[in-house]
Amino acid sequence: METGSGRKILIIEDENDVADLLSLNLRKAGFRVSTAADGANGLQKARDDRPDFIILDLMLPKMSGLEVCRVLKGDTVTAHTPILMLTAKAEEIDRIVGLEFGADDYVTKPFSPREIVLRIRAILRRGETADESLKAGPISIDPARHQVRVNGKPVRLTSLEFKLLRTLMQRRGRVQDRDRLLNEVWGYESVIDTRTVDTHVRRLREKLGKAGDVIETVRGFGYRLREN
Ligand code: CA
Repeated sequence: METGSGRKILIIEDENDVADLLSLNLRKAGFRVSTAADGANGLQKARDDRPDFIILDLMLPKMSGLEVCRVLKGDTVTAHTPILMLTAKAEEIDRIVGLEFGADDYVTKPFSPREIVLRIRAILRRGETADESLKAGPISIDPARHQVRVNGKPVRLTSLEFKLLRTLMQRRGRVQDRDRLLNEVWGYESVIDTRTVDTHVRRLREKLGKAGDVIETVRGFGYRLREN
């Protein structure tokens, strides 16, 4: 469970020391690693080697990380490969993880290699369960059919409430801040106030009844679905 199970990770990063640090830690965690120092080489390796996961630096020579990300997500061979972006600029995050470029997650530099390993495992797990039913206590959702049940009884949710619940369940145990939820559920270009998230969480809890207690408010940050 706690090993990389030999899955292949491609690191696209021009800074050698960063690429080396990541390679070392990922290999220690049981992953197989290949590296590319620029976008063109990275795209080539992504198509030829079919990695299970790609770590992509935003600041690359010639072709930027965002451009590489866009090409990867637009190519049927690589469209479903999860991408974790490395960025030094917090303000770019909305565009990176949002619909425009489609990266799956991001980490800001400087980062801890341990955090990267944890993120990769979480994303790979999320991918494995994306089409399976998700359960949290009495709540179960069938993402493929857009069905939610509490103790076996169907609950009618709006599509936003459904996406909100699914996102929280897929990331259970991890605090999701309001901006992140807005991004994931409403879309990156949303100009909606973050208080909208609170309103929808309140309605979602009401519809789930007592089972809604699994959604915890983390004061000052956002929301989290209880681990058990
Ligand atoms: Ca760089």
